[in-house]
Amino acid sequence: MEKNLFQKLPKVDILMKSEKLEEISKKMSYHNYYQAVKDGIEFFRNKIKNREITDFTEDEVISKIKEISGIKSRPNLRRVINGTGTIIHTNLGRSILNEKITEDLGEILLNYSNLEYDLETGSRGSRYSHIEKLICDITGAEGALIVNNNAAAVILCLNEFANGKNTIVSRGELVEIGGSFRIPEIMKLAGTTLKEVGTTNKTHVFDYEDNIDEETAVLLKVHTSNFKIIGFTEEADKKDIAELGKKYEILTMEDLGSGVLVDFSKYGLPKEPTIQESIKSGIDIVTVSGDKLLGGPQCGIILGKKPLIERLKKNQYLRAFRVNKITISILENIFQYYKDEREAIKEIPILNMITEEKGKVLERAEKLSAILKERNIENSIIETESKIGGGSMPEETVESYAICFTGDAVLLEKRFRGNDIPVIGRIKNDHFILDAKTLREKDFEEITGAAERIFL
Ligand SMILES: *Cc1c(COP(=O)(O)O)cnc(C)c1O
Repeated sequence: MEKNLFQKLPKVDILMKSEKLEEISKKMSYHNYYQAVKDGIEFFRNKIKNREITDFTEDEVISKIKEISGIKSRPNLRRVINGTGTIIHTNLGRSILNEKITEDLGEILLNYSNLEYDLETGSRGSRYSHIEKLICDITGAEGALIVNNNAAAVILCLNEFANGKNTIVSRGELVEIGGSFRIPEIMKLAGTTLKEVGTTNKTHVFDYEDNIDEETAVLLKVHTSNFKIIGFTEEADKKDIAELGKKYEILTMEDLGSGVLVDFSKYGLPKEPTIQESIKSGIDIVTVSGDKLLGGPQCGIILGKKPLIERLKKNQYLRAFRVNKITISILENIFQYYKDEREAIKEIPILNMITEEKGKVLERAEKLSAILKERNIENSIIETESKIGGGSMPEETVESYAICFTGDAVLLEKRFRGNDIPVIGRIKNDHFILDAKTLREKDFEEITGAAERIFL
């Protein structure tokens, strides 16, 4: 019996020519296709060996091969559906972009570009020139420079301006950001010596002033993005730090973390310090992330006085931190939107989500809930809290609505995550939920399909 079954297993070379597999064979490389067919046959060989089956058909083998090739041909980095309710989710790729931006990006990737070519003179140009003026117009800065991320921005600036000298920072601002960005370690790397001043909860301007000596090169202020000290607290105002810097002719710098260009308090959200305010305060150099509240690509943006930016352009670290054309293309689009705040909120997906009214989120939740019910999948809508994320507004949650499924929450979480396009939700009060704040209507078909495969 068993021997017959082994003999019944199709041969690799014959199966590879099967008409039934023609379609997938065209989509895959020869190597991956060969491997998928071999693995499919092997799967059944093992089943026979372990006496798990008493018979099988060729169609079953073929369908297994199709399943394996689906897995083999999908990239490791792939799209997921964010039902966590955290808008800027560092593990899920931080900010997302709109279609127009990807079209412009495609144009740059599929063709040669003027990345470092000056079209006026026909000679070598600078990759940094394409967006500097635009960024300056929007932020009010005199000069701007883009690097790979904000961590690189801070290292570059401290290395240029404080290498071999001291940098003064408040004890309450020695932060660690996710992914192990730690201010004291970053400073060491940049070659500057950290001089802590003040206390954890209170630092006054005189604390900075009392500690200035001939070794002091930079007064650094760091935005405590991802934590809050509450109660009896005080921090030095950036305006006062800027003035102190001028008085002693010492450079002042602020690591603002999330770069916000929109005043969120206008939209009923907590106030985050904006880039424009930092520039206006008179601080010499400001650094921000591109893919947090700004809603752009991963990058670090350095803003400040023109001669200082020119100095940074000559620092050797810049060669290691330089941005690619992908970043420049996306960032140009993003800053174009910021010329008009309404446009920015409409076109930058994360700004759109952040400012979206609760009623709209409920509408979306109701729509998905109804589609699921139509397909006999039990669910209800619950009120929940979403988060902005991205190391900003750590204490604040935004009211939202979620689809709540019935059934073993741990198992459901795992099965939705295992979907071909993984659906990532969270568990709340022993229920698996998908937060409508971060779900988009274009995800509904996939979510429903996943739910059908899981429940029915
Ligand atoms: C997020 C953050 C950083 C790190 O920025 P990346 O762009 O992720 O490198 C540095 N400083 C502060 C204050 C931050 O919030």
